[in-house]
Amino acid sequence: MTQAVERVAAATPTFDSFEPATGAVYASFPEQDAAEVEAAVTRARSAGAWWQGLGFSGRKDKLDAWKAILATRLPELAEVMHKENGKPIGDAQLELVLAIDHIAWAGKNARRVLGARKVSSGMMMANQAASLEYQPLGVVGVIGPWNYPVFTPMGSIAYALAAGNTVVFKPSEYTPAVGRWLVDSFAEVAEGHDVLQLVTGFGETGSALCRAGVDKIAFTGSARTGKKVMAACAENLVPVLMECGGKDSMIVDDDADLRAAADAALWGGMANAGQTCIGIERVYATEKAYDGFLAALTEKARTIEAGRSYGNITMPSQVDVIRTHIADAVARGGTVVTGGGIDGTLVQPTILTGVPEDSLAVQEETFGPTLTVTKVSSVEEAITLTNATSYGLAGAVFSKRRGVEIATQLRSGMTSVNSVLAFAGVPGLPFGGSGDSGFGRIHGDDGLREFTRAKAITRQRFALPVALMSFQRTGRTDALLVKAMKLLHGRG
Ligand code: NAD
Repeated sequence: MTQAVERVAAATPTFDSFEPATGAVYASFPEQDAAEVEAAVTRARSAGAWWQGLGFSGRKDKLDAWKAILATRLPELAEVMHKENGKPIGDAQLELVLAIDHIAWAGKNARRVLGARKVSSGMMMANQAASLEYQPLGVVGVIGPWNYPVFTPMGSIAYALAAGNTVVFKPSEYTPAVGRWLVDSFAEVAEGHDVLQLVTGFGETGSALCRAGVDKIAFTGSARTGKKVMAACAENLVPVLMECGGKDSMIVDDDADLRAAADAALWGGMANAGQTCIGIERVYATEKAYDGFLAALTEKARTIEAGRSYGNITMPSQVDVIRTHIADAVARGGTVVTGGGIDGTLVQPTILTGVPEDSLAVQEETFGPTLTVTKVSSVEEAITLTNATSYGLAGAVFSKRRGVEIATQLRSGMTSVNSVLAFAGVPGLPFGGSGDSGFGRIHGDDGLREFTRAKAITRQRFALPVALMSFQRTGRTDALLVKAMKLLHGRG
């Protein structure tokens, strides 16, 4: 398989990935065209029979073996991530730890969630045995981003594989070497079958994957690209999972632990240079909490530094977006409390206050190490403002008494109470958003079902004296049916 891909690749143009820290070329990869992508999907379809034939336990064994490779060679992959994405080694390791946990969970839980089970057939159909199982779709195309080049695609790859699908993975053009490492390591357990393959290139390659005959596309990236992916998939009614951007907030209530909230806001906003889909970008603090929170946050922010606490901005063009958001906030009356400095692709931790709600820094995804901090008159106002963007991905609430009550009122897929990003580390919880943040879910039971089709089966156990679904049904049967309805459902 690998040889075939490389033979074709030799004739195709290549592109480079770069080290964000130095700008140096890191690796070169083929820019694969539609024919090569289709060939990969065809091979994936052939491999499906073997992979599905392994059953839940056989696939669990393979996923466990893959997980063990990742766990034992963790430093090696973390180094590739560090180089190609620019994140510190420690952050790369943390990302890997979470991803490994998801592989384990998906393999272990697939049978429980997807396996055949009996379903009650109900009074009217008591002569039928009813059963349900969740069958694999076939070939899933996974299109990934660069910001969490392992954790993010793994939410689709591990769950799609555990459900019995084969996968063709197109990593971001910024992190193809990380994608290559993942696919090569899986090949070590796949006995020569093309269960997980790599295709590389830019948007055109991703677009070709949408049109290559896959049974589903799992896309993670910006809402703008997501719309293009949906349009391409619509041509053949290919279903899509959309994991797009966010503008997550943290709400700080009157009774919050302010130092803990400040610590969490800082990490949630600045880790990975703020290039986190579920990163905190806005904070709403109540009048009572505001001063203490801002003082603690500013003090802590002065202890961290771009280049030491987090790395360079991975995609150089993003620096302009960050700069524009800060400038727009200031032009509209906002104040830079700390930070604001940008040196090449290093952006210092930046805290902004007094930024109007219709500013870019409050409404649009900044994807940089910035936080807006806004005083609100009540938690209710914070909830309203949190819900007032087009996004609905995740967020956090700091409150001693009302945390969960507040969380349930936020129009987003995930909320951590008194911590940040905690939900991402709980494999049993679904992960995904609404609005411009997308739809569908990775992780958890929902994440396994996302890559399946429900298969409902009834088996007639005995024939009823009055056949309902037959032209032999008589007027007497119809009258009986009306009577039965009255008896069964007539009493409100
Ligand atoms: P992007 O939208 O630029 O690219 C994502 C992927 O789509 C890349 O692999 C790219 O090559 C591919 N692509 C580009 N054009 C395409 C097309 N026309 N057809 C098919 N594929 C195409 O996003 P990015 O800059 O790589 O990632 C950052 C974005 O991802 C941010 O908005 C971030 O919030 C989001 N994100 C979301 C989640 C989540 O789980 N919700 C996780 C991580 C990142």
